[in-house]
Amino acid sequence: MEDCIFCKLVKGKIPCNKVGESENFISFLDLHPKNKGHILIISKEHYPDLRGLPEGLGNELIHFSKELLKKVSKATSASDFKFLINSGEKAGQVIFHAHFHLIPYYKTGIASHPQLSDKETARLAEAIRDQ
Ligand SMILES: [Zn+2]
Repeated sequence: MEDCIFCKLVKGKIPCNKVGESENFISFLDLHPKNKGHILIISKEHYPDLRGLPEGLGNELIHFSKELLKKVSKATSASDFKFLINSGEKAGQVIFHAHFHLIPYYKTGIASHPQLSDKETARLAEAIRDQ
């Protein structure tokens, strides 16, 4: 979709801190992380929300997510993760291109909403990619 920010991101028209890619998905650091290493996983094709996502992509999504989970764990000291999708406006979806949040949790078990500089964010993305 032409005016979709995630479609632009998939096409490389706007930059992101990419951490991984599979055949049908890409992953990058969330701009407003709940915790350090909070990533988004989005489909390369435009589907407005979970309801439009083809069921055949389920296995790839889970496999890719588990790979990313391991990489984030290695690049940070995260021990636990929350994996969620907001599907629909009233459920908190803001960008209407299907995306999944993978949010790491640390010892405290709380969301710290870290404010990383652009440089720190780029370094973190690189650390996750290199695992
Ligand atoms: Zn899109």
